[in-house]
Amino acid sequence: MDFLKNLSISSKNQGSSTGFEWFTTSALLTSISPVDGQRIADVQITDKQNYEQIITKASEAFLVWRKIPAPKRGDIIRQMGNAFRTKKEDLGKLVSWEMGKSLQEGMGEIQEIIDVCDFAVGLSRQLYGLTMHSERPNHRMYEQWHPLGIVGIITAFNFPAAVWGWNAALALVCGNVCVWKGSEKTPLTAIACQKIIGEVIKYNKLPEGISCLISGDKEVGYWITQDTRIPLVSATGSTRMGKEIGKVVAARLGRSLLELGGNNAIIVTPSADLKLAVIGAVFGATGTTGQRCTTTRRIIVHQSIYEQFKKDLINSYQQLVVGNPLENGVHVGPLIDNQAVNLYKDALIQIKKEKGIFIVEGEVLSIKNYESGFYVKPCIVEAHRGMKITQTETFVPILYLLKYDHLEEAIEIQNSVPQGLSSAIMTTNMKEMELFLSVAGSDCGIANVNMGTSGAEIGGAFGGEKETGGGRESGSDAWKAYMRRQTCSINFGNDMPLAQGIKFDL
Ligand code: NAD
Repeated sequence: MDFLKNLSISSKNQGSSTGFEWFTTSALLTSISPVDGQRIADVQITDKQNYEQIITKASEAFLVWRKIPAPKRGDIIRQMGNAFRTKKEDLGKLVSWEMGKSLQEGMGEIQEIIDVCDFAVGLSRQLYGLTMHSERPNHRMYEQWHPLGIVGIITAFNFPAAVWGWNAALALVCGNVCVWKGSEKTPLTAIACQKIIGEVIKYNKLPEGISCLISGDKEVGYWITQDTRIPLVSATGSTRMGKEIGKVVAARLGRSLLELGGNNAIIVTPSADLKLAVIGAVFGATGTTGQRCTTTRRIIVHQSIYEQFKKDLINSYQQLVVGNPLENGVHVGPLIDNQAVNLYKDALIQIKKEKGIFIVEGEVLSIKNYESGFYVKPCIVEAHRGMKITQTETFVPILYLLKYDHLEEAIEIQNSVPQGLSSAIMTTNMKEMELFLSVAGSDCGIANVNMGTSGAEIGGAFGGEKETGGGRESGSDAWKAYMRRQTCSINFGNDMPLAQGIKFDL
């Protein structure tokens, strides 16, 4: 495994770092590869003492970093992006081996970090505020944006690198410093990313606390959420986690940026190009083994094309190859761990109880040479609206097929779940498309036409409504979440007129 060596991952790794300084602790967590179910390496869990040292270093670094002009910060982020360019393949392999997604997707994740770094470089000259006309003579008003301080970043296992990249690049260019807690299921990817960014910090002789790493499970995450020295907590994970974190951060009147679970649907209309619809559905439902927040979980198909679509979909599912995601020709890798396999098994039982009909049967798979890996077969269920399980996000490759008569009904089915992340319509009819995108259409943060629900580009703001948490990360003006807005009013006259014409004569 050259990629481990190339990324300086050993069999026992320190998991707490301020930039390039690493701390030693005693408790360990083990990273298991879902590909073969075997231990990759151990990671030292951050203890409270090291956490305190890290937060102190981060606070000190903020005082320096915030004063560096934004375009100069942009230059550092450009170097970070370049450092990830040189490590893309090794890091992509590590993501694939530790998380289980295909190598293509693993490298795509690193490409997202590179892209968002490029985006942040441009942003470094565009952190614009507005100017306003004052109602008072000889007065000027404008808005400016300042950094917040330490941004706590908590991430999920399924995007072990990219989600940190989205947050860190934006937070840093805005003048913040970061403390990242990656998923306890993918700690090595976080360590490898930290080593890459640490080199850039060291080379530029910057204060090392600019970008820090802590490792461990939700207990370590809890230190971040309750810490009043951390004004913004950006947390990506399950809705359960978001509800816990949201409460703790709100109780101290901190800010949280929540990116939580999805339950995404594609509507396939009578005018759809069925070939596109099937490709979108298969990649959307089985890519990353159904473990994307934007995974397609429901397909709502017009009754007039239902049978044809179903036949084509079943056909495509029969071509899917499940196996080691690093091997060529494999479409679907393993689930993350045994707990996920149990969730899958429980869901199959529940579906039968709720009278769903399997049109592609599900089963736990044993893959030759990887018998201890966590493999399952992507399956399809003909579902009905009464099935409670279709309302939940089961983080495995199970796809529900539903039928509709009128587009309004399809939109209503799509929106009738607690989550609101991604949605799509397959249509060549302009009226159908516009209705789907109108105020009476999709209620999700992402609405796609003639593509699946997954695979967002970094240029757009990413996030969702309702139980998906309402946060927006990545492109567009998502940077505003990482800054505080200040309205400035300047009187350059010799009088002091009051707003609203109020008189206060002495
Ligand atoms: P998870 O909620 O189990 O854990 C996510 C992270 O939160 C981990 O680092 C975990 O240690 C931490 N955590 C959990 N509870 C916490 C608490 N009470 N306090 C502090 N930290 C806590 O999620 P997961 O299984 O790693 O990831 C899968 C979930 O993430 C899915 O629901 C998926 O939809 C969601 N997700 C959402 C997005 C998005 O952008 N909307 C992106 C990726 C993943």
